[in-house]
Amino acid sequence: MEYKISARAASLTPSLTLAIDAKAKALKAEGQDVVGFGAGEPDFDTPQHIKDAAAAALAAGFTKYTPSSGTPELRQAVADKFKRDNGLDYKPSQIIINCGGKHSCFNVIFATCQDGDEVIIPAPYWLSYPEMAKLAGAKPVILPTTDKTEFKLTPEQLRAAITPKTRLLVFNSPSNPTGSVYTPEEARAIGDICIEKGVLIMSDEIYEHLLYDGVKHQSMASFSSAHYEHTIIVHGLAKAWSMTGWRLGFLAAPQPIAKAIDAVQSHSTSNPTSFAQKGGVAALNGPQDHLKTWMTEFDKRRKYAWERLNKIPGISCVNPKGAFYLFPNISGTGMKSTDFCAKLLEQEKVAAVPGIAFGADDYIRLSYATSLANIEKGLDRIEKFCISLKG
Ligand SMILES: *Cc1c(COP(=O)(O)O)cnc(C)c1O
Repeated sequence: MEYKISARAASLTPSLTLAIDAKAKALKAEGQDVVGFGAGEPDFDTPQHIKDAAAAALAAGFTKYTPSSGTPELRQAVADKFKRDNGLDYKPSQIIINCGGKHSCFNVIFATCQDGDEVIIPAPYWLSYPEMAKLAGAKPVILPTTDKTEFKLTPEQLRAAITPKTRLLVFNSPSNPTGSVYTPEEARAIGDICIEKGVLIMSDEIYEHLLYDGVKHQSMASFSSAHYEHTIIVHGLAKAWSMTGWRLGFLAAPQPIAKAIDAVQSHSTSNPTSFAQKGGVAALNGPQDHLKTWMTEFDKRRKYAWERLNKIPGISCVNPKGAFYLFPNISGTGMKSTDFCAKLLEQEKVAAVPGIAFGADDYIRLSYATSLANIEKGLDRIEKFCISLKG
């Protein structure tokens, strides 16, 4: 039997991060001492009060369908979050609860883009964005940036890339994979151009609370009423509440877009898991002090790893101001990212993600969502590896 795969599905590139992770896990299962820098999730447990709320909901029989866009209670909690953290006014009807932030992104792109549209995606990008554009029939237009601009898109670069077909800009600050954070002035200037040209912005703000060195995040929707009208914020509980496995994301959109996304979701996933949503309410409405403890720990690791990386021959790394990733430039080793990561795993048993997965082949991504002891061991090995390349 010959199976016909749809052109859209066949056009997708499978996730390289998941492939690296699988290879590292397989080596570990063989008993090898692998240091993993591949993690895209915090290494901390979900706070207890959140787990308790979901467990209580499960015990109480809260196990049936909810409205497809989420429970009124959670939509209100999300609206309250946007008011509290970002000074933004959203009605609960403008909020949709999704099955993870990834699903939020997918729904936004699927509901706003179609065949022939162009979606502008600055690189290095979170690897799912271009594939989502392709699934919607749209064309990803990749705008490369480098460490020289701290991986930030310039207004001139954006202006030159916009065509009559441009429908959406994907904006992600703080960024996965680079950890870069746009200043409010820089973000506003990017938004201004989109407003002038009638381009929508999908602003992925899932790392908004993961910031270092006193830098500030300001939501793209908050600069003016025009920014609000052009922006769809995507967000989720995975990172700042360490709830990756719960599959809970959310978005805030102008009313007509929220309505369209509601229709898409009602015919695809329906509601996110009922009792997980109760955990989501506890996460958003409950105490937030866990994050301070986590950020202190992340910051220690970030400083240590960043300093060490810059002392390794062939490697240079900009200081990331957000998220939990470092994105060192490896071009000084004379290798490209896939080769570098494959040999690093083979020779030194260190798993890192090649930058090519994020559209940047001169870099690798290292996640510091792992213990300081692991980071130390892993960096010792990367150092040894790079010195061996010189020798
Ligand atoms: C982790 C992440 C998300 C959302 O992940 P989910 O697990 O689907 O909630 C969205 N955007 C970026 C940039 C991320 O790194």
